Amino acid sequence: MAKIIAAPPVNPGLDPNYRIVSPKHSKPKLDLTTWETKSQRKLRYVLFLEELSVSFEGFKALDGLTMYLTDGELRCVIGPNGAGKTTLMDVITGHTKPDTGEAWYMDINLLENDEVFIARSGIGRKFQKPSVFDSLSVFQNLELSLKAKKTVLRTLTASLGQSDRDRLSFVLETVGLTNERASQAGTLSHGQKQWLEIGMLLAQEPKILLLDEPVAGMTPGEIERTTELLLSLEGTHSIILVEHDMEFVRSVARTVTVLHQGSVLAEGTMDEVAAHPGVIEAYLGGTVC
Ligand code: ADP
Ligand code: MG
Repeated sequence: MAKIIAAPPVNPGLDPNYRIVSPKHSKPKLDLTTWETKSQRKLRYVLFLEELSVSFEGFKALDGLTMYLTDGELRCVIGPNGAGKTTLMDVITGHTKPDTGEAWYMDINLLENDEVFIARSGIGRKFQKPSVFDSLSVFQNLELSLKAKKTVLRTLTASLGQSDRDRLSFVLETVGLTNERASQAGTLSHGQKQWLEIGMLLAQEPKILLLDEPVAGMTPGEIERTTELLLSLEGTHSIILVEHDMEFVRSVARTVTVLHQGSVLAEGTMDEVAAHPGVIEAYLGGTVC
């Protein structure tokens, strides 16, 4: 059984079964055997977010949000509309600077660096709407994406070396578009465009992938393929997946973080969070899964 300890400040400590539940919805119970210092936590996680708050004209979009991501982890983030999911992504990518809190990606302080630097350092974000170049081929789209990362080293007109071409072929294989290599991107199905865009992120070799509702509008077959794709990336990439499709979340989820009113309401397996009274209440009778 998962242990429930007090938060914030939350501390995953040394216990792999660690789960947190907001103190608003549970009695605080402190387990000192799981305690570790802030610097130990920074070393332990690839992404370290503590006590983040973001206000828009007095309204708190994030309110003391604390969350950690382990290297290679696939994490699902769910929550009702307005919970703060997009704002969380905006803080991680450096698009929005919080009023308070700390955000670290390895030893990079995300609050002191701009979006371009953070993206180049290895945090790739995929927005909901695919933004591929329809008139270019699938391979050319990947090529452009790879070169965009390398503009400092070479011009956009320079041709790719063999190792880059091999890498892009590997990316094509990973996202299941090898047979579409020469196809015009505009002719791809909606799902294939989404995979191409994930491929374009992978071409830039990110360490962390932030994906905003990647299966929205996909057919059941495409959703299944996307599940396989994300599971194949687990381990070599850390992934934060914001998603509304609960069946999909259940199929990919290892740990699910539920956001509500700008902070973490519950965190655990899909079954654990779905049974959490605060989560059920937050969804106002709607099905959690
Ligand atoms: P989610 O992605 O979970 O639906 P958001 O992060 O988009 O939630 O928004 C959280 C809250 O912050 C919402 O109530 C939203 O209206 C508000 N918000 C987000 N961005 C802005 C902004 N730029 N200006 C004012 N309010 C904003
Ligand atoms: Mg959103």
